[in-house]
Amino acid sequence: APEVVTFGETMAALRAQGALRLGGSLGLSVAGAESNVAIGLARLGHRVRWAGRVGADELGALVLRTLRAEGVDTEHAAVDDTGRPTGLLLTEPRLGTLTRVSYYRAGSAGSAVSPADVLPALASGTRVLHLTGITPALGPSAAEAVQAAAEAAHDAGMTVCLDVNYRSRLWSHDRARTALRALLAHTDLLIASEDELPLVLERADAGESEAVHSLLSAGVDEVVVKRGAHGATGFTAEGATDRAARRVDAVDLVGAGDAFVAGYLSGLLDGADLPARLHRAVTTAAFAVATRGDWEGLPTRDELGLFDQPDGTTIR
Ligand code: ATP
Repeated sequence: APEVVTFGETMAALRAQGALRLGGSLGLSVAGAESNVAIGLARLGHRVRWAGRVGADELGALVLRTLRAEGVDTEHAAVDDTGRPTGLLLTEPRLGTLTRVSYYRAGSAGSAVSPADVLPALASGTRVLHLTGITPALGPSAAEAVQAAAEAAHDAGMTVCLDVNYRSRLWSHDRARTALRALLAHTDLLIASEDELPLVLERADAGESEAVHSLLSAGVDEVVVKRGAHGATGFTAEGATDRAARRVDAVDLVGAGDAFVAGYLSGLLDGADLPARLHRAVTTAAFAVATRGDWEGLPTRDELGLFDQPDGTTIR
């Protein structure tokens, strides 16, 4: 059985070299928050399953082929037979590490993922279900899939991880708050960036420590707050642990959060304590930040130690 099950929308990703409106050539890859996490975990040697829906088209075949090539189990991935296409996103670097992303995902196969697609993917023996707050924003059946999977996994004793991942293009704060708060009762591990934390609270103006306290008393075992270049903090009933980010030359920040989650869950699966989980998370995130692409630069397990080498080292 897989150790981790995840699902969500994975799209074809077209990457421009410069401004899109100037034309030129595009590089073709795939991207999706949950599949980025799945790839990160597979590279670290974990058994991970991705269960989403793709179109019956060439881009859907690219998504599945890429995941399989990375060692992600796609046995429960669904191919839409009603003509919905695989979603698409375009990225263009604009200023330094500032990137613009344009989405073409309305009506996509991925947004039609349903409870029937994902519930059979939760094998007995699975330890972690990873969800993001993107999926419930995609449409009613995707929202039902998230709710049903969270309930089933939580009832089966799995660790349910929810990365808030707020996307303002997809829904309002109020709609997100209603949907995400409904998931809290089934969430064991909540991951959010600093600015996303208010979204899962009844009162959006609560300070951070008040926010974390209310989440921990609502039954969430662990809250992890990501602070970009400032690192992250993990909170449990025992207290808070801060972890600085690793110093790297930032090249592409997209995917840092997903890489962070992959490292954190990898530490959890290995039985690492909170400081060691955060250490692995900031390390995998630093690989994502220092390389181009959402997941292409993620480390294998034997590459995790590269950050401890002196700068300028050549590996022969
Ligand atoms: P995204 O949604 O863009 O993937 P995010 O907002 O979810 O990212 P961030 O807090 O921006 O998440 O970044 C996640 C982690 O990535 C941070 O906790 C940190 O470890 C690492 N990170 C981000 N920016 C930098 C940076 N400039 N240098 C080193 N590490 C970074």
